[in-house]
Amino acid sequence: MSHILAGAPLPGPGSSLDIDPPSVVVAVGAHPDDIEFHCGATLARWSARGAVVHLVICTDGSKGTWDPDADTAEVAQLRTAEATDAAAALGATGEVVLLGAVDGELARAVPDLHDPLVATLRRLMPDVVVGHDPWRRYRLHPDHRAAGFLTVDACVAARDPHFVPHLGTAHRPEWLLLFEADEPDHVEVAGEEAMAVKVTALLAHRSQWRSTMLIDDPDQDGGQERFATGVLDAAREVGGAVGQGFGESFRRLGL
Ligand SMILES: [Zn+2]
Repeated sequence: MSHILAGAPLPGPGSSLDIDPPSVVVAVGAHPDDIEFHCGATLARWSARGAVVHLVICTDGSKGTWDPDADTAEVAQLRTAEATDAAAALGATGEVVLLGAVDGELARAVPDLHDPLVATLRRLMPDVVVGHDPWRRYRLHPDHRAAGFLTVDACVAARDPHFVPHLGTAHRPEWLLLFEADEPDHVEVAGEEAMAVKVTALLAHRSQWRSTMLIDDPDQDGGQERFATGVLDAAREVGGAVGQGFGESFRRLGL
């Protein structure tokens, strides 16, 4: 599959494996479905072990369609419902926080979203924050870059008591794990069960079947199976690079 997971830089053989399972996680994605693509198996596994997983989605996903006649407000509404279904499929018991920027225009909204994300991090008090790597070279989609910088900067502000002191008590997460990383150095190993949950959660984004997941005619042509095989193959490639089965790769930063 897919342009989304194929061709990503692979972790080196010296990469670290599996942080201690966290109690509280905040995952930040540019669009509905980014989180599931890049860390769905990891979040499923942590959720199954009792972690409270919160999802923050920066944009409304309103441009996620190939239909030039689509009503973008309707697309946004549909994608919000799908994001909620996907979070349930992951087993995420925390909040789904929608920051509400217009799809494709996140960079313009970042100055206004910094404080809300800092306040969210201080309120939810995650041990681990997961988000886009803003330093991924030659990445085209501006929202992924913008979401990455938003997340990194909000983590720094959330941990330091003299940053935005009116936004609550400072909170320092232990780890920031950046997905779609330019130079991944950490892998979370995934079992078959977590991979199955990842695929189910991704398929909850039904509006993306055709455009992102290349599932043309879901009832007729085995498209779902092909998509699932592509997701498993990509995770097997990541896991294989570090002598494991399935995996999801990250750049691991201590906060
Ligand atoms: Zn995206």
